[in-house]
Amino acid sequence: MRKITIIGAGQSGLLMGIGLKKKGYDVTIITNRTGSEIYNGGVLSSQAMFNAALDIERDFGVNFWEDECPEIEGISLTVVAPDGSRPIDWAARLTTGSANSVDQRVKMPVWMAEFEKLGGKLVIDDVSLESLEDIARDCDLVMVASGKGDIGKMFERDAEKSTFDKPMRALGLTYVKNMKPRPDYSAVCFNIIPGVGEYFCFPALTTTGPCDIMVFEGIPGGEMDCWGGIASPEEHLEMSQTILNKFLPWEAERCTEIEMTDPNGKLAGRFPPTIRKPVGRLPSGKIVLGLADSICLNDPITGQGSNNATKCTEIFYNSILARGDLPFDEDWMQKTFDEFWDYAKYVVEWTNGFLLPPADHVLQILGVAGSHPETAQRIADAFNDPRDLFPWFMEPAAAAEYLKKIVN
Ligand SMILES: Cc1cc2nc3c(=O)[nH]c(=O)nc-3n(C[C@H](O)[C@H](O)[C@H](O)COP(=O)(O)OP(=O)(O)OC[C@H]3O[C@@H](n4cnc5c(N)ncnc54)[C@H](O)[C@@H]3O)c2cc1C
Repeated sequence: MRKITIIGAGQSGLLMGIGLKKKGYDVTIITNRTGSEIYNGGVLSSQAMFNAALDIERDFGVNFWEDECPEIEGISLTVVAPDGSRPIDWAARLTTGSANSVDQRVKMPVWMAEFEKLGGKLVIDDVSLESLEDIARDCDLVMVASGKGDIGKMFERDAEKSTFDKPMRALGLTYVKNMKPRPDYSAVCFNIIPGVGEYFCFPALTTTGPCDIMVFEGIPGGEMDCWGGIASPEEHLEMSQTILNKFLPWEAERCTEIEMTDPNGKLAGRFPPTIRKPVGRLPSGKIVLGLADSICLNDPITGQGSNNATKCTEIFYNSILARGDLPFDEDWMQKTFDEFWDYAKYVVEWTNGFLLPPADHVLQILGVAGSHPETAQRIADAFNDPRDLFPWFMEPAAAAEYLKKIVN
């Protein structure tokens, strides 16, 4: 039986561990927090997942919250002008199936228990480079699925694939109850305030039941880069409302009655989006494979991280199964990553594009979408699979051609 160790019990590590256990592999997951520490700790993400990624969870048999978790049925998009008006303002239903967001504080402890129920070995330890040597000596394959954890820095930053070397947004999350629902259908309500940042919100399931998640993406140094010195949940909630009152009164109107879901329902931080080389070499010469965010870390602005982590897991999982008894050597690792990159490069380019001031052709297409439902539809569905945005949305010449076609 092939022996595989995974570092990190998050979206990718647990999904991989559960999948491999179900196929009879000898799997150990080493992670630095217990299920109860995660459940009782601060929020980690806003984790909106679209249907293609949810289908993978269904295939792995871990979609335990389908009945309880509120559905996200569409995407709305608003661009705010300097005078506060909304020159771009439209919504479209997702035709690719609804999305949802299960708080990782809810999900990960249950997946940890499921992994152990299947016979997986779960070890609580903060893995260091030194301990990784011991672990690697004893296994056929080690995967590092440590997300933003420091141990991921053992993978060399890929300067060619990484567009930025500093954080592009100051992030804030606020989990709330009593937000008024948007009319018609639920959606990720995405608001762009040029020069300030972005705000989006959507329904989710948290430790206290259904809720809404408010996500703030502030341009560093701008007015939405505002979480420094804010410690208490009350101050965090107040700041969330202050931002909406100032820039997005239609969103503020939905939030007059909001309360925090729990004192830990908040997060503030920033990190540079970074792509790393997938193969890590230990001082002994042994190699380990990076999985998901540890090697492909995106800003949350397009809500792709958990989706990407899930798609990465599926590709790596299939590659492990296809490898049979052959060694998990460097060539296999690189090819496995390359297959993932064939998909992820689109996610990364689109996400990074959002972090820069919107290009003229993008604004034009977003504007046309307001009176051309098919375009709005296509943009909304691209959250499920961003490859569909290429090239007509992403490249100026292709965008001009697209616009010419739909205007005629
Ligand atoms: C503010 C914010 C909002 C987001 N919103 C969305 C969204 O709406 N949609 C979306 O798809 N994605 C979103 N994401 C991204 C998403 O949460 C991540 O992409 C996803 O969780 C990555 O999965 P992963 O398995 O790579 O890492 P993680 O899920 O982060 O798991 C990493 C695991 O490794 C463990 N670990 C770390 N270091 C060590 C160590 N040294 N030893 C042992 N264990 C270790 C951690 O404790 C954790 O269990 C958001 C992220 C942030 C920060």
